[in-house]
Amino acid sequence: MSVSRTYLDYNATAPLRPGAREAMLRALDSFGNPSSVHAEGRRARSVIECARAEIAGLVGAQARDVAFTSGATESANWVLSAPWRKILVSAVEHPAVTAPATRAGAQTMTIPVDANGLIDVELFANLLRNDIGDDPEQGDVLVAVQFANNETGVVQPIAEIAGFVHEHGAQLLVDAVQAAGRIEIDMATLGVDYLMISSHKIGGPQGVGALVFGTAESNNLKPLIVGGGQERNKRAGTENVPALAGFGAAAVAAKDDLLRVGESALLRDELEARLKAATPGLTIFAKNAPRLCNTTLVALPGASAETTVIGLDLNGVAASAGSACSSGKTARSPVLAAMDVSADMAKCAVRFSLGWATNEKDIAACEGAWQRVMKTRGGERQVA
Ligand code: PLP
Repeated sequence: MSVSRTYLDYNATAPLRPGAREAMLRALDSFGNPSSVHAEGRRARSVIECARAEIAGLVGAQARDVAFTSGATESANWVLSAPWRKILVSAVEHPAVTAPATRAGAQTMTIPVDANGLIDVELFANLLRNDIGDDPEQGDVLVAVQFANNETGVVQPIAEIAGFVHEHGAQLLVDAVQAAGRIEIDMATLGVDYLMISSHKIGGPQGVGALVFGTAESNNLKPLIVGGGQERNKRAGTENVPALAGFGAAAVAAKDDLLRVGESALLRDELEARLKAATPGLTIFAKNAPRLCNTTLVALPGASAETTVIGLDLNGVAASAGSACSSGKTARSPVLAAMDVSADMAKCAVRFSLGWATNEKDIAACEGAWQRVMKTRGGERQVA
């Protein structure tokens, strides 16, 4: 008997959208090498350039400023491999940013966050003033701040932060992996130098992403991967044409999703209300901070996230204990640590993330599974 599944782990990866699947299948027949001048090559090239324009459209950029990569992790490694003198990284960044920042060999500093995981912009401005001074010519300082957090969904005030960063002559790298398709992103007005996005978080295939350049200065970034002259000498290697076709189609659909952000937030709020009604001791992290429409991170004190997530899975619901990339490790989530959440509480944090196929039935199924898991837990406690 097949158990019907409820997938609420879009922040880990989103299911492939039907439009992306169709575009990929079509592109499998455009088998030419996109660098070849013959008709087959030109056909493959046009698939790529169409995808580039679609992705630029999602983030308000010019197509020529979009460079394809193998994913956001490569995009971050690319930017952070430049010879920066100083790198300032927010305390809630994803390991895709923190690991290459640590390895870079530059002087690094952490930008603190408050109990909601939000950067205090005044404090940040002081940090810039005191630590990097006011020399707008220096250009060798990088600031990395994510648009929205993968665990809590908390959204940072990027435009304001970009203003301060540029006042001090630094450049800004923004991880928009979780924000793309869930909040309006307009590179033309934001003042971001480098923006990283990932296909599989918006319903495209895995293993493909982009780095988007927002300024003339950032456009001069030296390549990380050298070889052929692909991506206008920015990133060598024959392009993955079917994957890019899927990424492009997903970007178009993700842009449409922006019209339905309110519906997604209602579903998320309903899920939170139902879980809270079922287990009144539930904590909802950063509930009153600006958050993505699709994400909720909750914790019931004493209910280990690991056990809860396994229980939910056995009851047909896919969710995550903290971020997917750090699950499997028992260490406290650095994001919750930065928010000053106790280790005991952090161990209980379960993330539900909704997406393009989520509906009312999923919310009801999740509530049912939650109730069953928590009831079993109660029973175990009584037995013990
Ligand atoms: N940044 C954030 C916020 C993420 O959630 C992830 C993936 O989990 C990444 C970066 C890495 O993206 P990719 O899987 O495309 O390398």
